[in-house]
Amino acid sequence: MKRYLNHYINGEWVASTGSETQPVINPATEEQIGEISLGTKEDLEKAVQAARDAFPHFSAMSQEDRVKMLEDIAAEYENRKNEIIETITDELGSPLEVSENVHFMMGYNHFSQAAESLKNFSFYEELEGHTRVKETMGISGLITPWNFPTNQTSTKIASAFAAGSPVILKPAEQTPFAAFILTEIFDKVGVPKGAFNLVNGSGKVIGDGISSHEDIDFVSFTGSGATGEKIMKNAAENITNVALELGGKSPLVVLDDADVKEAARAALTHITNNTGQVCSAATRTLIPSSMKEEFEAAIKEVLPEFKVGDPRNGNHMGPLISEDQWNTVQPYMEKGKEEGATLLVGGPGKPEGLETGFYAKPTVFTDVDNQMVIAQEEIFGPVMCVITYDSLDEAIAISNDTDYGLAGYVYGKDEEKLRKAATGIRAGRIKVNDTPADFAAPFGGYKQSGIGREWGDYGIEEYLEVKTILGYPGK
Ligand code: NAD
Repeated sequence: MKRYLNHYINGEWVASTGSETQPVINPATEEQIGEISLGTKEDLEKAVQAARDAFPHFSAMSQEDRVKMLEDIAAEYENRKNEIIETITDELGSPLEVSENVHFMMGYNHFSQAAESLKNFSFYEELEGHTRVKETMGISGLITPWNFPTNQTSTKIASAFAAGSPVILKPAEQTPFAAFILTEIFDKVGVPKGAFNLVNGSGKVIGDGISSHEDIDFVSFTGSGATGEKIMKNAAENITNVALELGGKSPLVVLDDADVKEAARAALTHITNNTGQVCSAATRTLIPSSMKEEFEAAIKEVLPEFKVGDPRNGNHMGPLISEDQWNTVQPYMEKGKEEGATLLVGGPGKPEGLETGFYAKPTVFTDVDNQMVIAQEEIFGPVMCVITYDSLDEAIAISNDTDYGLAGYVYGKDEEKLRKAATGIRAGRIKVNDTPADFAAPFGGYKQSGIGREWGDYGIEEYLEVKTILGYPGK
């Protein structure tokens, strides 16, 4: 049992001023694997004060020193590799292979990329009539969700450190342990006192406290739209800058010249990767009407490749994060049937032989109308909607007929059609076929998927203010 009852404030581990704790549950076994303290407003005050005190010297640290600090963090992060992988598997339920290749690697890539981006980042620009200076915005409050315990924390912290912004991090209560390892890493490499503060706690107390705090200059949040709305309202009271990374209902447009089996495999990969708990996952697959029967047959054919099982034993799809999440996802599986969609594979209930653990079945609905609830709401579980289209214009219109705009995916061969779909879909990130990830590329959403862009140099920009100086002396 991990008993992590301290917060990290001003370079030290300190006891919580409150006595409330929260159990951390392994979703694969339903067993308690540890507990954390739920911090109080008093704990948060101390962290805000520490960050404020650190601001003058941390924001003045040289660009070279900040690059070195980020490189040291990446190196020490790598030293803790096995522990990070095992911790994420136990707190999130992701298979060891996914914890390594996705979760561990994303954190590593964000720190290394921030170091790279910072090396070439220009904080100062002289133009004809004026000089532009980019300065640290101030101190930042970071609030993160449970589905990628090292991804969102690392991208926010790496960008903030690159920009010279001291931070207060409040990770999700369900998966808090990876953030303790990150904290130990920062401590070990000598991140200056007060530049990093970890306060664990509930959204209601610490999350709400961060977003309404008048001494916090910037709030970067990743999570649900409902919470994002509360954060924006709180921040509005003090005109605090916010960045919001919210949900999605992203389309995967399969062109008529695509390999049907590959497209079916891609669709199933989207809903099984991290058990469908991915904000940018494609959850609506759009296929040409003429391809429907062939595509349905291909889904059934490749489904056996997507097994569900113990994340500690094989590369299966693991469980959902919690009983609450399981209870949120199940009604959608019923709803699809009520709405008149055809349940092609999967459906409600636990997979056979997996009664313990919050396991669900990879579920694919066909004959889905884009107006159905299952096609409009973010389910955040292994559920795919298959929708047919008769022309590429219609596919683009259906893709865009959603409140969200986080990502879009296009599969096929014809370059003209790929380009048309990639430019026609209104979303922050479009992926054409199986192009590999790029951590220098900006990440963020249109519409209700959020405000702002993270990753690489765009991520650093979020933590900066622009100052214009007219008549800069000695220019
Ligand atoms: P959530 O909104 O419930 O919680 C996210 C964080 O906000 C947690 O740390 C939580 O404690 C905190 N929180 C809760 N109530 C709060 C409040 N009133 N004030 C301030 N903070 C509060 O989201 P979740 O269930 O943890 O995560 C799933 C959601 O996150 C999905 O909607 C998913 O799409 C989204 N997400 C988005 C991205 C992205 O980059 N766009 C990435 C991952 C997840």
